[in-house]
Amino acid sequence: NVVMPKPARTRRIAVANQKGGVGKTTTTVNIAAALALGGSQVLVIDMDPQGNASTALGAAHSPGEVSVYDVLEGRNSIAEIKQQCPDFENLDVVPASIDLSGAELEVANMENRTTLLKQAVDDFLESSPVHYDYVIIDCPPSLGLLVINAMCAVTEMLIPIQAEYYALEGLGQLINTIGLVQEHYNPGLIVSTMLVTMFDKRTILSREVFEEVKKHYPNIVLDTTVPRTVKISEAPSFGKSVIAYDPRGMGAIAYREAALEIAQKSPSVLAALEAKQGEH
Ligand code: ADP
Ligand code: MG
Repeated sequence: NVVMPKPARTRRIAVANQKGGVGKTTTTVNIAAALALGGSQVLVIDMDPQGNASTALGAAHSPGEVSVYDVLEGRNSIAEIKQQCPDFENLDVVPASIDLSGAELEVANMENRTTLLKQAVDDFLESSPVHYDYVIIDCPPSLGLLVINAMCAVTEMLIPIQAEYYALEGLGQLINTIGLVQEHYNPGLIVSTMLVTMFDKRTILSREVFEEVKKHYPNIVLDTTVPRTVKISEAPSFGKSVIAYDPRGMGAIAYREAALEIAQKSPSVLAALEAKQGEH
């Protein structure tokens, strides 16, 4: 069990890609669990009304249960509603339920509609008696207001890319949206990480996708790729990350290596990315 370096200041990372099924939730949950296993204090915020990250981390999220929806609408603070993941005492979850699907319309006309989550996270981190090393946000498959809220609440974006034929399709649109958020709301926002998921080393296609991403985003894509494994897809049905469900398997090993790569990104590496990505 490798102890990972901890950041001096809380790193806030949103996991986004407007395509569904590319591994956002799986990546959020397992990177978070791997960082927690490595000794960091981690908060996961589920911003997808489907609540898959909540399920996979064993957090209760039935309709009507207090959730991130109540945080966005100002009824509850993050401190009041976070739940501890049963498998890791240093991993907390802000759950989402299907109620959240109403939020997008309900906050649409509010003046501070893009910074509702940021405000809640700022308040939480300022007042928390425990220091958090990472806040990781799982986004729904869209580029709507919930995702914009996530982009405004973080400084880093993690983009999972599925190793398949249309992998890079839509990536331009996502990068454009991140650019717009950078320009108008959140100047320090960067894409710090891309992670190729569901990688099948037997296929040429998987390797081609990795090479293509590497060519376009050499300093961003992790060297680690996540293989397609049955254990990774089974784990959520037991309310577990694969880190807890099958700790010695290929999936857990890959996510722990990916988490270590993320943890090893130093402030100077992140600052260099910020300088580069800030020049439009
Ligand atoms: P998203 O959040 O982007 O919609 P998910 O993380 O929910 O994507 O993944 C989509 C589906 O693929 C889920 O059923 C998940 O369990 C499965 N999956 C994700 N990554 C892997 C993997 N590396 N190996 C096997 N199944 C995976
Ligand atoms: Mg998801």
